[in-house]
Amino acid sequence: MVTRDTLIDMLNKIAETIIENKEFLTDLDAAIGDGDHGINMDKGFRAVIEKLHGVKDKDCGSILKTTAMTLISTVGGASGPLYGTAFLKASIIAKEKMELESEDIIRMFDEGIKGIVMRGKAKRGEKTMLDSLIPAYEALKISIEGGDTLTQAFDKASKAAYDGVEYTKTIRATKGRASYLGNRSIGHQDPGATSSYLMIKSLANFLSN
Ligand code: ADP
Ligand code: MG
Repeated sequence: MVTRDTLIDMLNKIAETIIENKEFLTDLDAAIGDGDHGINMDKGFRAVIEKLHGVKDKDCGSILKTTAMTLISTVGGASGPLYGTAFLKASIIAKEKMELESEDIIRMFDEGIKGIVMRGKAKRGEKTMLDSLIPAYEALKISIEGGDTLTQAFDKASKAAYDGVEYTKTIRATKGRASYLGNRSIGHQDPGATSSYLMIKSLANFLSN
């Protein structure tokens, strides 16, 4: 079970991880995009950290909605509205809840991915964030439904997301800026798939400590 205090800690962990990886994500985007993914995400998550101070006594839905609106309004590029939409969809599941059960987290993850698909019109295999998020979601769901703890489930999700990032190296981008490169995008890992993996890994690390 995740209390709202834990939820805030988790969001702060995600933010810290993204900030630490600003240069790495920007370098990945420089190779196949326009080199701003780390800059965009760093800016957005710095703003999220600031905003989280003001929602400590709110319900989980409000906390996630604030995160979503902050990302949508501060992150430039494709990734801001996509991640923002994911958090916004997740916030609907968490509406008025003071704590989240594992089942809520599965639904939040599922709705978040559906939000990204709705907005970005991409599917698995197009070299986007979905290539790490969808396998991570599937691993998380199977793990929890099989009786694992949330900690074990996030560990498995993190490994699946990592494999998803590795997979993006083998495929051509057909969505987003990297698609302009066509076959030349092959061999490079997708920046958005990488930021998604890093977020999930940070949650796995947080839960195991
Ligand atoms: P931009 O491409 O506008 O510069 P960013 O560099 O911040 O934005 O984000 C790029 C990442 O966004 C890509 O690596 C990819 O994972 C993700 N992305 C781009 N377009 C889509 C889409 N239609 N659906 C899902 N993810 C996408
Ligand atoms: Mg970019």
